[in-house]
Amino acid sequence: MNALAATSRNFKQAAKLLGLDSKLEKSLLIPFREIKVECTIPKDDGTLASYVGFRVQHDNARGPMKGGIRYHHEVDPDEVNALAQLMTWKTAVANIPYGGAKGGIGCSPGDLSISELERLTRVFTQKIHDLIGIHTDVPAPDMGTNAQTMAWILDEYSKFHGYSPAVVTGKPVDLGGSLGRDAATGRGVLFATEALLAEHGKGIAGQRFVIQGFGNVGSWAAQLITEAGGKVIAISDVTGAVKNSNGIDIAKLMKHSAENRGIKGFDGGVINKDNADGIKAKYIIEAANHPTDPEADEILAKKGVLILPDILANSGGVTVSYFEWVQNIQGFMWDEEKVNRELKTYMTRAFRDTKEMCRSHHCDLRMGAFTLGVNRVARATVLRGWEA
Ligand code: GLU
Repeated sequence: MNALAATSRNFKQAAKLLGLDSKLEKSLLIPFREIKVECTIPKDDGTLASYVGFRVQHDNARGPMKGGIRYHHEVDPDEVNALAQLMTWKTAVANIPYGGAKGGIGCSPGDLSISELERLTRVFTQKIHDLIGIHTDVPAPDMGTNAQTMAWILDEYSKFHGYSPAVVTGKPVDLGGSLGRDAATGRGVLFATEALLAEHGKGIAGQRFVIQGFGNVGSWAAQLITEAGGKVIAISDVTGAVKNSNGIDIAKLMKHSAENRGIKGFDGGVINKDNADGIKAKYIIEAANHPTDPEADEILAKKGVLILPDILANSGGVTVSYFEWVQNIQGFMWDEEKVNRELKTYMTRAFRDTKEMCRSHHCDLRMGAFTLGVNRVARATVLRGWEA
């Protein structure tokens, strides 16, 4: 099932549990605006190359639309639509005053030089600058993009609208980025996992973890889990997988991954089809966006595996993006301790509110988070007067 069909299916199930009016349900599902632009740049060798860029603005009932921009060869309209929709529910679960959006460019960032990436980012920004803004739509990093990408967007946007640091989040700290933003998604994953384990009378210390993905989120999560006394026994990324039942040395793996563009070749056991079956998880924490298909959801539920869903588990990134935006608007910088403390408060509250929905609607954590998010957006939509 493709990402959009899966996300819409989860939404519809939540709408049913909430007893939403069918017209309201339809209006919540249709994106506010879909943007598709051609981005042509000169490559370093002088030839021209064309790429397609997208920005889907899904909903703005609760505030400016918010979400990352990804550079990946698999970016397509359905995927961006699904991810934009997930941002709408995610910001509502986190209870931050935003709607949802997502963008992307279909490209292989690893094959582009830094100056080609800069030109591509600037051309994309030129095409969408009128449609984003501090109070309309605020981009951030996602897969294949980072603080430098945000700096280029900020600079290009500012040529048209004047210097406006709050137009993007996840910026370099030197340009008004928030302390703690880089680690925020991984740290939020840690806090959400702590909240889940606490329900079962457990803590991070002494637990064993397997992590899929070793980019910004996976590597920070691995580091913070290890610091909290957890044992990370296996990690995979697109290049390969490593395992060490005594716990992987995360600092060493980060160095190896930076030098070799991936974890392949790191000293340690390799996970393959013969030993993958041996990894049996009790809990799955979705640090990525939409990693689990509804069909897999059902199989895992039957096996008794508890899934902490993406729109709750990885909401720490957009939550600290919100703190960054608030600091920019206020013109006042928080220290990192305050950022992390507030993040913990938001993550713990989102978990507690989700559990409350699970209890009142007799559903699992994914539907608990979906009903929580969808209900908040529906309420805001009705209050603003959607029928007029
Ligand atoms: N790309 C991240 C996400 O999927 C962060 C979005 C943001 O900070 O706006 O949640």
